[in-house]
Amino acid sequence: KDDIQDDNYFATYNHYDIHKEMLQDKIRTESYLKSIKENVDVFRDKIVLDVGCGTGILSMACIKYGQAKMVIAVDMSDMIYDAMAIANENNIDESKIVFIHGRIEDVNLPVEKVDIIISEWMGYFLLFECMLESIIFARNTYLDKENGLVLPDDFSIHMAGFHSDDLYHEHIGYWSDVYGFEMDTVVKNILLDGHVIIVPANDVMTSDCCIKTLNIYTCSNNDITFTHPFTVQALKSGSISGFVCHFDVNFAKNLIEKVHFSTSPRSPNTHWKQTVFFLPRLYNIQEGEEITGKISCQRHPNEKRGLIIHLHVFDSKFKFYLE
Ligand code: SAH
Repeated sequence: KDDIQDDNYFATYNHYDIHKEMLQDKIRTESYLKSIKENVDVFRDKIVLDVGCGTGILSMACIKYGQAKMVIAVDMSDMIYDAMAIANENNIDESKIVFIHGRIEDVNLPVEKVDIIISEWMGYFLLFECMLESIIFARNTYLDKENGLVLPDDFSIHMAGFHSDDLYHEHIGYWSDVYGFEMDTVVKNILLDGHVIIVPANDVMTSDCCIKTLNIYTCSNNDITFTHPFTVQALKSGSISGFVCHFDVNFAKNLIEKVHFSTSPRSPNTHWKQTVFFLPRLYNIQEGEEITGKISCQRHPNEKRGLIIHLHVFDSKFKFYLE
């Protein structure tokens, strides 16, 4: 069953559409390119491993802009065959790039250790897809222990309370009058899901609270499971209809020019949007009021790459699935 699920997972990356969506996310792609272009002294003459190369964009950039000695580009999806042709199209020196089709966990690399691992592994709510595990595997197996670098390297997940009449109506209210029929029965399922949507900055009702930090050099697979208390403060009086989560990404350690981007409602939109958990009703809040609770994340028991989020707040317990 695991294998079938993983076949389905990698199949989603076979098609160019998903790669186009990622490439067109300028915040994402330009952050990676900037971390290479502005740190040529870090990349020059280094051996780089690109975990999940997709179209090969980062691999080519490491050679063309970073002056890397060699890049090993690994991907389990069929997009890697296009990546090979794309490297040709762009006259990338064949002696400098090695493409390997397969799971990073299964393939044999032509070297024992690499100087740099670069990867774009982040999913919704940072951890969805659990590709983090593959980076941890690559780090443990291939990264030079003394001077090796992983890009990006430092992450955090945040949450805040929000209310949006528009989003509430679009996702929940909608079901109370569908061509004159009530379909509120569907709402119970909506309330069980994490939703990937853009929350307008003005709809954020509280301060942010960091609920998870992750350092790529020290993290382990256990980091996918966590529990964290939170306190957020109401920025204005009104109501809360849910919680919105986002994550931040840093390219930091040993870089001359550090790079940062955020998927917050207050930052320019990315293809990760935000992850939203709707509550079954509105909760009134007064400006300055503190809302405290607890959030936890654990692996989905049946969906290998899915997550379950538990939220304990307003004296109630809520459970959401990311699958
Ligand atoms: N680096 C590209 C693509 C990022 S998407 C870019 O920045 O545009 C992530 C890619 O990682 C997908 O193409 C997916 O097929 C690949 N991937 C995920 N887990 C993998 C694993 N364990 N082994 C090899 N490739 C993997």
